[in-house]
Amino acid sequence: MRRLHNQHEQFEPGTLTVVGIPSDENSSFLRGVALAPNRIREALLSGASNLCAEDGSDLSQIPQFVDVGDLDLPFGEVWDTSGSPRIEAGISKLLNQGARVISLGGDHAVTYPIIKAYAAHYPQLNILHLDAHPDLYDELDGNRFSHACPFARIMEEKLAARLVQVGIRTLNQHQRQQANRFSVEIIEMRDWHQGMTVEFDGPVYLSLDLDALDPAYAPGVSHHEPGGFTTRDVLHIIQNLNAPLVGADIVELNPTRDLVGITAVTAAKFLKEIATKMLNTKDYHEKT
Ligand code: MN
Ligand code: MN
Repeated sequence: MRRLHNQHEQFEPGTLTVVGIPSDENSSFLRGVALAPNRIREALLSGASNLCAEDGSDLSQIPQFVDVGDLDLPFGEVWDTSGSPRIEAGISKLLNQGARVISLGGDHAVTYPIIKAYAAHYPQLNILHLDAHPDLYDELDGNRFSHACPFARIMEEKLAARLVQVGIRTLNQHQRQQANRFSVEIIEMRDWHQGMTVEFDGPVYLSLDLDALDPAYAPGVSHHEPGGFTTRDVLHIIQNLNAPLVGADIVELNPTRDLVGITAVTAAKFLKEIATKMLNTKDYHEKT
């Protein structure tokens, strides 16, 4: 993976960029997830493993896989009444150059401005959302941009053709109503069985909240919710996705709770598999 030092470098169409979004001011319970992007990079580049995905693709040998560093997010200037123009602009800048983007959060609030940028390029975008939580609150603690709300904002603004949520295990009455209101398709964790896949017939954006995993596999998250995915379940979903994967985020790693760094290593493993899947999505044209 090349690390970009010149922020003004132009990308070839099809470049796969990794960008950090160190934002945790919309976290409702604990801070700390702003520390995540660099922990994931360290795990990815650690001598403890290599940069190969399980199909043998060696990301260290792929020049169009580029780390563009973190978005510049001065504290307190990131969010306004429209969301986060800075995050949206940062992602738009990459998409406008024909790049695709894997974002490293940050908390799940970042997905709303990311999807705003993506929707301008992919009007028929499907979102596959893995999470213990549906994140469909109209507001939480008076904050409409809380990390508990991004998919309510996305669906209100009709930024996605379909929203499919998998791994959910915290639905309350309000969020069930919101899911019905927005026609969200939910596969609850209690209904999940090994080997299930989700079918799509258009471009897919993957939003991966690491608390979708059981805390036994990923303790480094702010909201522990037992009874979740194994690491292998999530790898299976990524590897068997039968649709063009055009963007992704990996969010909610909280390094302050990460025992021996295992959650960061797990995030880095997912990053390798997602990147390989996206690099294999070569022939997909925008706006088709
Ligand atoms: Mn979430
Ligand atoms: Mn969650």
